[in-house]
Amino acid sequence: MSFSTLGLSEPILKAVAELGYTQPTNIQKRAIPVILSKKDLIAAAQTGTGKTASFVLPILERLNTGYTLRGKRIKALILTPTRELAVQVEASIAQYSKHLELSSMAMYGGIDAEPQKQRLIWGVDIIVATPGRLLDMSHQRALHFDELEVLVLDEADRMLDMGFREDINKIIERLPNERQNLLFSATLSDDIRSLAKRAIGSNAVEISIKQDATTKPKIEQWLVTVDKTNKSALLSHLIKENEWQQALIFIETKHGAAKLVSQLEKRDIKAECIHSGKTQEIRERILADFKSGKIKFLVATAVAARGIDIDDLDRVINYDLPDRPDDYIHRIGRTGRAGASGEAISFVAKDNFRNLCAIESKLGHIIERKEFEEFPVKKVVPVSILNFVPKNKQ
Ligand code: AMP
Repeated sequence: MSFSTLGLSEPILKAVAELGYTQPTNIQKRAIPVILSKKDLIAAAQTGTGKTASFVLPILERLNTGYTLRGKRIKALILTPTRELAVQVEASIAQYSKHLELSSMAMYGGIDAEPQKQRLIWGVDIIVATPGRLLDMSHQRALHFDELEVLVLDEADRMLDMGFREDINKIIERLPNERQNLLFSATLSDDIRSLAKRAIGSNAVEISIKQDATTKPKIEQWLVTVDKTNKSALLSHLIKENEWQQALIFIETKHGAAKLVSQLEKRDIKAECIHSGKTQEIRERILADFKSGKIKFLVATAVAARGIDIDDLDRVINYDLPDRPDDYIHRIGRTGRAGASGEAISFVAKDNFRNLCAIESKLGHIIERKEFEEFPVKKVVPVSILNFVPKNKQ
């Protein structure tokens, strides 16, 4: 199947072809016709499936009417959990709309609101925003929703995790009743369904996508059991022995991130860290340097790393294992994007045993273990019990 059979017009097909997309991914095949028919949609699809194009392309098609906006008006609103994701989605829109006369803008907090307000004065066709800043702007009457046609909730599960439920509800109250609603989420939990019911109603088409061949990540997962005190030495060893050129390293705390960077530097490994204690401007610069390869090793707390989207990220390392299996799956999805291969490595100390059981139960298999004789483990981590159900079940 090719893109041309999906009902998209020439300027969009041209932009897609220029990006080297030869055929639509599964989610694109299924979502694009539904969205073009102006129906509401709830889709279970993870990052890496091509989901962004699956809603952006038909939205562009729908909005490409030549009709000009009034000032402070928008036609489509895409809500995302993080600033980084907002920036990435907007960058995709800019690519896909290259041959169209549609405008787009990312809007997020942590930076001066004035330039964003100035831009809104002329009207912007598509806004990609984090919920907090959008609500602020709306309260300040910097934008109005009376011409809004489409609402997208992207990574809705993340937005709920990050405590945006109230903000989302408040935003929805301000939108016109006549609108198209699209919700994308990695999982369709009860929580997501209740959000969907409120935001979308009950007539939405529902689709669920497994990873498909075009973008299916080839992620090699393995873990190494390690005593807590040996983690930084083990990491340095692995980087040097294997001559790794790039890694995104997840860590639990800001303090831990800064400490690990200095421990690596003591062993002549140059690294940077990114966490909520750094300003938005610095975080963006570090991210850009990591993407360009100027920074090879980036140590990130989970929140700071949420929106990182790098197509050819070789490897992610769970220096600290996440508490929740969904976070593990989300993190490893940062590598092996769009058909490339990637590696996901977890450091597991004895204290992490319960988390490991939960993760492996969710995966449905045990993660391969590797041992390094230079790092014998004093506190042995037992092999998981699959079908483990943690007490505070998610
Ligand atoms: P997403 O799931 O939206 O984060 O997309 C994952 C990656 O797949 C992005 O880098 C896209 O550029 C890429 N992509 C999206 N659609 C296609 C396609 N039809 N063919 C090849 N790559 C694609």
